[in-house]
Amino acid sequence: MAVVGHRHARHIMAFQGGAPPAPSQHAILTAAVAVPYFQVVPPQDVQPDRPIGYGAFGVVWSVTDPRDGKRVALKKMPSVFQNLVSSKRVFRELRMLCHFKHDNVLSALDILQPPHIDFFHEVYVLTELMQSDLHKIIVSPQPLTSDHVKVFLYQILRGLKYLHSARVLHRDIKPGNLLVNSNCVLKICDFGLARIEEPDENIHMTQEVVTQYYRAPELLMGAKHYSYSVDVWSVGCIFAELLGRRILFQAQSPIQQLDLITDLLGTPSDSAMRTSCEGARAHIKRMAHKQPSLAALYTLSNQATHEAVHLLCRMLVFDPLEYLMFISGKKRIKATDALAHPYLDEGRLRYHACMCKCCYSTNSGRRYTSDFEPTCSQPFSYGFEDSLTSCHRVKEKLHKFILEQQKNNEVPLCLNPNSISFKTFASSQVAQPAELPPSPHAWE
Ligand SMILES: [Zn+2]
Repeated sequence: MAVVGHRHARHIMAFQGGAPPAPSQHAILTAAVAVPYFQVVPPQDVQPDRPIGYGAFGVVWSVTDPRDGKRVALKKMPSVFQNLVSSKRVFRELRMLCHFKHDNVLSALDILQPPHIDFFHEVYVLTELMQSDLHKIIVSPQPLTSDHVKVFLYQILRGLKYLHSARVLHRDIKPGNLLVNSNCVLKICDFGLARIEEPDENIHMTQEVVTQYYRAPELLMGAKHYSYSVDVWSVGCIFAELLGRRILFQAQSPIQQLDLITDLLGTPSDSAMRTSCEGARAHIKRMAHKQPSLAALYTLSNQATHEAVHLLCRMLVFDPLEYLMFISGKKRIKATDALAHPYLDEGRLRYHACMCKCCYSTNSGRRYTSDFEPTCSQPFSYGFEDSLTSCHRVKEKLHKFILEQQKNNEVPLCLNPNSISFKTFASSQVAQPAELPPSPHAWE
């Protein structure tokens, strides 16, 4: 547990019962109480803090944790309580980050403790630092072997199976939200759009989700209700992008997005469009009938083997719905079933041979875990949102939640207002609306 202290040093001092030590000149993070000298990193070893990314809901910096000298990611979520929707979204994301415990899903290492509630406007969360993401890797000139593709896809599905078992739909799976470290370990991040699965089909869900290129056809066609399979569609698009090193369906608008999908999959049947809105159905019917051209997937790269294309075709299925389950091959595959596909056997082997934390090596060989793809022991509950009826209420609950996360055995951290980078960090902004994905097409 750590302390936010840049504006309100008096609150920290009151909380800690003493003045914080003089902060170092460089680092944004500093210990709020004196730490044992052996935990202090020599200044010459400290890399400069620097921004590494930003999105709609926050700014991320690479910083040093002064308690152990490790580089970590510090995410700033500014102006949290401006409106009810965004404040609830931040609260939900923070709870998810604290709930998830899985090697292929990003989780919170620490949350800076908030100041007095009257001064509580921002949230700062520490997570593991990952050097890159799949988008940067795909557009880079570095070669991607078939082993890379398999081990990345294995980890994406392994993380997704865990999220879905927690009853969480991510709703924005895209290469930029798949963080990768130098050992090729991959973690799903950014739960700003995630929500719990909604079993009641009569409850309308927002379509303002998923970056357009990775948006499932049911979302493009205005379905009011959707489920886990929207994430699997996105993974299918990313799988093809890993093979071909280019975006599979790179359209300029949601309508063209749908057209590109039907170019590949053919005109959907009436039953595959039953959740679509009238306008979207009429659009499909106005177009000339298209035959599927799935054989084109073999031309993505020479790594597009029969097994790869077979699995890809099980993910890129127009119809997401479960009721066709008795007609094999007609519905989109689930993350759990995709993991059982033979294409991923080598990825699983490689991951657990040297990359995972669940297996370990002994003198007599590798000891493997009994569960290669664990599920979440406790579903994520969003019952806490029922009482969040105003910004002030969210503020109170979020303040309390952060205080409850305090770990007794950890020295709290605070922001260092005297550090060289602090000014830039404090003024870093979130993405502008123009940089965000386009809204879905208004069919009616
Ligand atoms: Zn393992």
